Amino acid sequence: MFTTNTAYYKPNEAIFKKRSDGKMRLSGKRAVVTGGARGIGKGIVQRFLNEGALVSVMDRNEEDLKELQAELVAAGQGESAQFLVCDVGLPEQLEKQAIAAMDRWNGIDVLVNNAGIAFREPFLDIAPDRWNQVINVNLNATFQLCQLVAQRMMQQGTGGSIVNMSSKNGLSSSAMLAHYNASKAGVVLLTQSMAVELAPHGIRVNSVAPGLIDTPLDRALRIKDNLPPYSDRTPMKRLGTIEEVANCFLFLASDESSFVTGSTLVVDGGHLASASEN
Ligand code: NDP
Repeated sequence: MFTTNTAYYKPNEAIFKKRSDGKMRLSGKRAVVTGGARGIGKGIVQRFLNEGALVSVMDRNEEDLKELQAELVAAGQGESAQFLVCDVGLPEQLEKQAIAAMDRWNGIDVLVNNAGIAFREPFLDIAPDRWNQVINVNLNATFQLCQLVAQRMMQQGTGGSIVNMSSKNGLSSSAMLAHYNASKAGVVLLTQSMAVELAPHGIRVNSVAPGLIDTPLDRALRIKDNLPPYSDRTPMKRLGTIEEVANCFLFLASDESSFVTGSTLVVDGGHLASASEN
């Protein structure tokens, strides 16, 4: 039922292999990636490691973290990664593990706030607890970790790059996702606000807004509600892939985007651009 490939799309397997040409784009950069044990976050972790970064992976899912660890050890990359069980929605745990991550590499250069949750339900049925849960994980945790990391980056005096996960839903709403839409819109404006205040300290802050991407989260939502594999409104007529989103994070994390801050990079196959069509 799900399709990611069309005649026009050729996945580039090479990008998930370690570079051997000595031109790694994140060589020696110390990074934290939340929600990095599976889905898009895992793709970002792999992409960063293959470009020479040292990565602390935070995720609440211990089983998936162990699986990732085994994969990376088998690939000879175990030494460049740290695995931290952490529910980013629990402020005390998040602070403790953030400090452990920054201490592991003796500092931090890149933060990716990727962990996120979504539930499809009508606006009128959203219980206060559910609203708070979504805002807490998607927005409050992003705020808390950004603040902790920005403080450390300022102490270091080396600047850095923060990349937050928003969504096309943070720029234009979809029905049944009021809490998710609001949380992701909050991420966009939080990102802009931080970009303005942190620029004098050499810290860039950007967000990425993916459209529909083929991940376990997206599949679960679509199967549950019997939705088509992709929206007809998407001009490219397919789901995006994890690697296509990971590439955007790599660009914003690396020095290639050195004059980019406060931006939201939309990666949605043209979905938002076609808003007036139907
Ligand atoms: P997945 O559910 O596939 O992966 C998310 C990972 O984050 C899982 O390992 C999950 O653990 C973990 N996680 C969830 N909540 C927490 C938490 N409180 N603390 C720590 N880890 C947590 O999601 P995707 O890869 O699809 O999505 C990643 C991000 O991208 C999210 O922010 C999402 O909103 C955003 N996004 C996704 C799109 C899509 O089409 N897939 C489109 C636009 C944005 P567990 O297994 O326990 O849930």
